[in-house]
Amino acid sequence: MNTRKDSKSDLIQTYRWLRQYGYNDSHSGNISLRDGDTIWVTPTGACADTLSEEQLVACDLNHGPGPGASLDANLHIKCYRQNPHISAVIHSHGPYSVGITMDLSDYTPADFEGQYYFPTVPILRIDYDTYVDEAPARVAAALRDSKLVIVAGHGVYAAAENLNLAYKWTCSLEQSAKTDLIHRMARMTTQQ
Ligand SMILES: [Zn+2]
Repeated sequence: MNTRKDSKSDLIQTYRWLRQYGYNDSHSGNISLRDGDTIWVTPTGACADTLSEEQLVACDLNHGPGPGASLDANLHIKCYRQNPHISAVIHSHGPYSVGITMDLSDYTPADFEGQYYFPTVPILRIDYDTYVDEAPARVAAALRDSKLVIVAGHGVYAAAENLNLAYKWTCSLEQSAKTDLIHRMARMTTQQ
């Protein structure tokens, strides 16, 4: 079991991996890490290739986002307020996870590991023009009962006790979605 406390350096590393392995592009997604009543959040416009620890923004669990924090900072703070057991939240844009779930109301992975981890992943539909107002409460509520939530046509939010686990859920969902798509394509090929 990973009992080491995550650091700001771990947050930076995880943000880089998301970009490096194709879960985000250069400037998309965001991550936060809870340390007591302080929430460290990636800044708005963060570039995964160059982000440094000094650029992370301290937010207060009780008083809200600090200046320059990601537009999603409110959402992260709400997740921690409603889910006291979590210490890390990762938002990513995995193309397989987003692509194959765009028209669904929830997602059940077809592969063994996906079903083992996530019997069902909830999918929220949130209008783009009301996103900033609506998303925090809805995502935080969905993460009370699920390790992950997908926002249709947008991305994935994963919450966990530490960064490693939130990263694991993010990667595992994307692997399931990729496997699912390959299965569907193989089935189409064999039916021709
Ligand atoms: Zn996003």
